[in-house]
Amino acid sequence: AEPRLVAVRATRISPRLVLLVLRDITEKERVEQMRRDFVANTSHELKTPVGAVSLLAEAIESAADDPEQVRIFASRLTGEASRLALLTSRIMNLSRLQSADDLTAERDVSVDEIVASALEAHAIQAASAGVLLHRGGVKGVYVRGDAQVLGEAVGNLVANAIAYSPQGSAVAVGVKAVDDIVEISVTDRGIGIAEGDQDRIFERFYRADQARSRRTGGTGLGLSIVKHAVQRHGGEVRLWSRPGKGSTFTIRLPRIDAPLDDPSRKRKRK
Ligand code: ADP
Repeated sequence: AEPRLVAVRATRISPRLVLLVLRDITEKERVEQMRRDFVANTSHELKTPVGAVSLLAEAIESAADDPEQVRIFASRLTGEASRLALLTSRIMNLSRLQSADDLTAERDVSVDEIVASALEAHAIQAASAGVLLHRGGVKGVYVRGDAQVLGEAVGNLVANAIAYSPQGSAVAVGVKAVDDIVEISVTDRGIGIAEGDQDRIFERFYRADQARSRRTGGTGLGLSIVKHAVQRHGGEVRLWSRPGKGSTFTIRLPRIDAPLDDPSRKRKRK
């Protein structure tokens, strides 16, 4: 957007000379608008599960004489409650990543550690979906950042890859080091993403129609979390996808040298 300049201070230096301090308010307005949208969207998205929880609680009350009905409503209530828990924790993650606060735990992080934690966190999901997880590529590369935030970002990609893949297919997580860049890619042979959706899926709460109809219980926040987490680390996310063929999401991060105590350092320097 064009910069919009406003005078924030005017000082008369001499009878004919005034010093104006100008500020570009466009960026500030944009951030403020984003914050307002976030609050509005979030409230809207929370209304559905909160409404469902109170309806189901009422239903349980009025079905008290019928144990079978109570059981059915209670199990749906548990489902809605855990959806609500997922939604609120993702909203909090995202708002933390969007705020100007520093990332808490900056350190040298092994990419092996990031990938291992992402795979481990979704092993059960993969097993129950009948999807095989693979780890490929190089080992012993490092990035600088918050291990938990990065692990969650890769984890979100793995979770999506599993959720949008058919039973019996494979999801591969690969690591590449190209000059000063580390690439962590997550590849699936799932439903793929239509070209018109490929930019939009990184927006908060955006879900492609196909995803909505699959009832994966998604929040539409996973990829915005990935995008913000990676951007906070000076990186970017790339996407290749063909509907019906599958998708590859690639996280690119600045690479750092292996720390001094890492055994791979003796074998090979960058
Ligand atoms: P959700 O919780 O809906 O998965 P995300 O922000 O993680 O939210 O993803 C946004 C949308 O992007 C999904 O609803 C789906 O339409 C699409 N998407 C994400 N990952 C994949 C994938 N691996 N294959 C196909 N579609 C995907």
